[in-house]
Amino acid sequence: MRLDAVISDAVSRLSGCSDSACLDAEILLCQTINVPRSYLFAHPEDVLDELMRNQFEARLQRRISGEPISYITGTQEFWSHDFLVSPATLVPRPETELLVELALREIPRKSEWQILDLGTGSGAIAISIAAERLRSQVTATDISPDALAIARENGRQAELSNLVFLAGSWTAPVTGKLFDVIVSNPPYVAEGDAALAALQYEPKKALISGMDGLDDIRILARDCADILTQDGWLMMEHGINQADDVANILKAESWTDIMCHNDLSGRPRVTVARGSGK
Ligand code: GLN
Repeated sequence: MRLDAVISDAVSRLSGCSDSACLDAEILLCQTINVPRSYLFAHPEDVLDELMRNQFEARLQRRISGEPISYITGTQEFWSHDFLVSPATLVPRPETELLVELALREIPRKSEWQILDLGTGSGAIAISIAAERLRSQVTATDISPDALAIARENGRQAELSNLVFLAGSWTAPVTGKLFDVIVSNPPYVAEGDAALAALQYEPKKALISGMDGLDDIRILARDCADILTQDGWLMMEHGINQADDVANILKAESWTDIMCHNDLSGRPRVTVARGSGK
């Protein structure tokens, strides 16, 4: 079968289950025959041999069953890097780039600040900040050893010397230290939320946070003030309907300058707050 025919067959089979059927088909085919996407357009008449056809079919079946394309290819682009991902980590989302952008807005280029990323997963947020602010030191924690192994490998590939990964729950690995900016994309989906049906391949521990999705945000609001410099910033991603609840949680813990920022789709997505100088 010619490459163009393989693609059009795959697109028609994917169109019911993917919003990006054509792109998915092309990415999976490129991964299978190990060529850049431009090759597909330059050589539509190439013929796929049976071995390659079977390998492509196996990948296509995974995508048709709903597995995210990033787990099939093992990588996801975020900010300006390709990151390794695995079923132990969430797939980094475009909306999470807002968290990086807000952190970079606060961290002066030439400053030697201490930055903390709690629940780093693949390390995408921590590594993106570290790469943009080479004089600052970035510490990233995660409770999952499997996620940390991926984050460390991503850090190694980024060849950054201002980055350290520590294992443990939330602030536990950094007790007694002080940070100028703390960022986190914690789990924030409520148990039983209908949205979980579409997220079945991603780690539940990284997604779900109690009955209302806010258990971990409550822990961060309670514990982060102790490890933040006076006037330091806490920045947390949350669900698009959680801005008021997050603001109330932060107010109750005496945070000030609480402000929610919208993501690129105009949805309330990241709330920032200043420590009250405990
Ligand atoms: N943004 C993810 C989603 O709802 C959830 C990620 C998270 O809980 N941190 O698809």
